[in-house]
Amino acid sequence: MAQLLLLPGRDRTLARRHPWIFAAAVDRLCGRARPGDTVEVVAANGRPLAKAAWSPESKIRARVWTFDPDETVDDAFFKRRVQCAVERRRLTPELRAEQGLRLVHGESDGLPGLIADRYDDTIVLQLTATGPEKWRPAIVRALQRATGCARIYERSDSDVRRLEGLLPVSGWLLGEPPQAPLTIVENGVRMKVDIVAGHKTGFYLDQRDNRLLTRMLAAGRATLNCFCYTGGFSLQALAGGASHVLSVDSSGPALATAIDNLALNPELAASRAEWREADVFNELRLLRTAGQRFDLVILDPPKFAPSAAHAERAARAYRDINVLGFRLLSPGGLLMTYSCSGGIRSEHFQEIVADAAICAGREARILRRLVAPVDHPVGLNFAEGEYLKGLLCQAD
Ligand code: SAH
Repeated sequence: MAQLLLLPGRDRTLARRHPWIFAAAVDRLCGRARPGDTVEVVAANGRPLAKAAWSPESKIRARVWTFDPDETVDDAFFKRRVQCAVERRRLTPELRAEQGLRLVHGESDGLPGLIADRYDDTIVLQLTATGPEKWRPAIVRALQRATGCARIYERSDSDVRRLEGLLPVSGWLLGEPPQAPLTIVENGVRMKVDIVAGHKTGFYLDQRDNRLLTRMLAAGRATLNCFCYTGGFSLQALAGGASHVLSVDSSGPALATAIDNLALNPELAASRAEWREADVFNELRLLRTAGQRFDLVILDPPKFAPSAAHAERAARAYRDINVLGFRLLSPGGLLMTYSCSGGIRSEHFQEIVADAAICAGREARILRRLVAPVDHPVGLNFAEGEYLKGLLCQAD
């Protein structure tokens, strides 16, 4: 096995169990390794520290599989790690009834570069690094064994693969495509999940708890859901008794699915729902000019800053929509605002929202801080895992 020799003093983050080894920490590779091969990570003084997956093209030169230098990375390793991740969810009472949940959340479940989401009896796998790419068959066997699911689909088409020198890959790894469109019930609402063409692995599972909160807050409130995608927040607001829900997204197909989703839930008051295909930035200005006001405004935009390099431009975009959001709030209205950008830290996001309130001339306070649900854990030593942050603010 090749050895990855670190520069003096560059083993500190590993000692704190952060799983990424950046190019700047690497002295040299002793021996030969192909992308995804397991290498032994060695401190400058020769002490073995970990085993990691080698990724020569990425700035993250290696991702740690195990901090025990004596542990072997083989089929049995993946069986153990996947089994543990699945078992942790099985033992979490609030997840027991979920039809849609994340089974493996990458680094925070000890499996860097590996995402596995379960939608009813279908698992959608996303491999984003060379390590899991190499171990695909072992991972598929481990998932099947741990869950009994008969269908596994791969959606490895995320942009981050390019940074690892990997091409996009999608397709069935196990079982046949289901006959009927896939649906899940989330907090009592039925939702279609398009695992082939939908965003991420088909659905934004990370907003499950926050949609439930929306349902609890919505009673009697005129609601505006911006970046609504397939209507997750909109339908929960209707379920919670919102007086009216205006949903905006620039994607026609996403809105078409949202309308289908509403039809799948005949108990919801469809007459209170209004869907608008538009650019949110423009639409919010038009609503403001028209003198419209809302009691609950939800802003769940796409990732404006995929990495810290995009943070500045992204910060302006977040500020702009939040200013517009605050301006549209009725007195006492609630703003539920999110960022899923890895490049924007939670304190920074709070500053942006605070600036937006000032710019909109509104006094506001934070009622709750919002995060992803328990099936999206954050490794204690992996702050990058906390990509989703939200604030529930109330304006005077
Ligand atoms: N809140 C959603 C997820 C939002 S994903 C949920 O709970 O499922 C982000 C959405 O923003 C996508 O549907 C995308 O089509 C939309 N979008 C991106 N840029 C936009 C823009 N400028 N105006 C309107 N919608 C936009």
